[in-house]
Amino acid sequence: MTALTTGRSPTDGWTTCALGHRHWGLAGAAGLLLHRPGPDGVELLLQLRVEWSHHGGTWGTPGGALHPAEPPAEGALREAGEELGLRRDDVVLGAESVDDHGGWSYTTVLATPSGLLDPAALRLNPESVAAGWFPLAALADVPLHPGFAASLPALRSLLT
Ligand SMILES: [Zn+2]
Repeated sequence: MTALTTGRSPTDGWTTCALGHRHWGLAGAAGLLLHRPGPDGVELLLQLRVEWSHHGGTWGTPGGALHPAEPPAEGALREAGEELGLRRDDVVLGAESVDDHGGWSYTTVLATPSGLLDPAALRLNPESVAAGWFPLAALADVPLHPGFAASLPALRSLLT
């Protein structure tokens, strides 16, 4: 969704996948899932989307529509940079998990922080209300972005 506020890409636009959902991003989308070990197990860095955005008011991964011919890892890093001020050096990239809906797919790019990553030190853009580390085991009480919630079962096996 970042392209709505910062310049346009030829892949900007709504599309309908084979499952009948409406998705933003004609070439699919990607997000960055940062994880780290915590006292209560694996923790995830999640972002609260501003109310006016698609599925606003929910927590999910920073991410958005891929640009033409953009590898998912590059798109995820670009979006995380725009939305949270994360720099490439802040993260170490890991596995990728593709949620293919038919005609549209979302690639979650896993990553770990390269150092101490304090959400309070992040530079959030207007799309992001907040960011924070959440224990994976406590997500049942968190209002999650529906796409992220749907991909979580597949991601769990990569996180634990
Ligand atoms: Zn879909």
